[in-house]
Amino acid sequence: EERLVAGMEQNADSWQYSLRPRRLQEYIGQDQVKNNLSVFVQAALSRSEALDHVLLYGPPGLGKTTLANIIANELGVNFRITSGPAIERSGDLAALLTNLNEKDVLFIDEIHRLSRNVEEVLYSAMEDYALDIMIGKGPSARSIRLDLPQFTLVGATTRAGALTAPLRDRFGVICRLEYYHTEDLEYIIKRAAEILNIVIEADGAREIARRSRGTPRIANRLLKRVRDFAQVDGDGIITESLAQKALGLLEVDTCGLDKIDQRLLITIITKFGGGPVGLDTLAAAISEETDTIEDVYEPFLIQLGFLQRTPRGRVATKAAYVHMGVPYQGDQETLF
Ligand code: ADP
Repeated sequence: EERLVAGMEQNADSWQYSLRPRRLQEYIGQDQVKNNLSVFVQAALSRSEALDHVLLYGPPGLGKTTLANIIANELGVNFRITSGPAIERSGDLAALLTNLNEKDVLFIDEIHRLSRNVEEVLYSAMEDYALDIMIGKGPSARSIRLDLPQFTLVGATTRAGALTAPLRDRFGVICRLEYYHTEDLEYIIKRAAEILNIVIEADGAREIARRSRGTPRIANRLLKRVRDFAQVDGDGIITESLAQKALGLLEVDTCGLDKIDQRLLITIITKFGGGPVGLDTLAAAISEETDTIEDVYEPFLIQLGFLQRTPRGRVATKAAYVHMGVPYQGDQETLF
C-alpha cells in the first residue's frame, strides 16, 4: 500500500533532495521562524560565535531537515546529519562530536528518540562544549574532560512534548513549524515543477496545493504522481481538471485526506459513536501505531477542525461528519 503520508523515508527518495532550497531566501513560508533565524544567524556571524542550539519541531515533511541544512549554509559551516535512533551508544556520539570543526552544525533528527545515556552525554556537550568520559574500570576508573569545538546542535522532532526538560532547556532557540498556506504550497509546487521540467498550469498547481495537507513533502510527491497521469492519460500538461482526476484516482480527497485519515474518522464515527475514544483503542481499530496517529494524522485533522483531543479521548466533530457524509446525531458537548 503506497503511503502518501510518511515520516521517515526522506533518505530513500533522492529527488526530494534536489528540490531542497539551499538558502533562507529560497525557503518559502514559515515567515516568523525564517525572520527570527535570519537575525540569530547574522548576530552569531557578527560575533564570530557558533549559533546557539536550535530545536525545530512540527509534523513530518514541513521542512525541518531543509531548514537545518540552510542554517549551516547561511553560517558557512559544515552540515553533519544523524538521527536519534542511529546513535546507539555514547561512544557513537563522542565520535561524532570530536570530529566536528569549529562552529559546525550537527543535525539530529528525531532527537526525542535518543537513549537516556546518550542524551546525558549531550548535556555537557551542549552546555560547556565538553565531554566527560570514563576511562578504565573499577577502582582505577576516572573521568576525564575533553574539550569540543564550539558547535551548533540543531535538533528536530515531531513533538516537543516528547523531549525531556533538561534537553529542551539546553536549546537557546526553539522554533515550531506550521502547516503551510495553500499559496505557499502553490509556489513550492511551481518551483518544483520548474526544477523537474513539468508543465503545470496555475490552476493545476493550486489544486495540488489544496490537497497537500499543508505539507511540502506531500506537495512534491503528489506533483510527481499527477505528472504520471498527465503523461500517460493526457498531453503532459497538468491542468486543474487533470489534477482533480488524478488526485481522485490517488484517493486523495478534496481536503487532502488520504485513506488512512478517512478510515480514522469513519472508525470514530461508526464504531465509537463519534467518540470519545482512547488513542490505544483507536490505534488497534485501524491497525496503526499510536505514535504515527499522534504525530502524523491527528495534527492535520485537528487543524482542519475534524478531530478534537479531549481528556477522555478523541472526538469526531460535526465538520468531520459533514465531510465524511454521515448524518450528525446531535450536539455532544453536553457530555463534557
Ligand atoms: P522534515 O525534515 O520536516 O520532515 P524536509 O526538510 O525533509 O522535512 O522537507 C521535505 C521536502 O519538502 C524537502 O525535500 C523539500 O523539497 C520540501 N520543502 C520543505 N520545506 C520547504 C520550503 N519551505 N520551501 C520549499 N520546499 C520545501
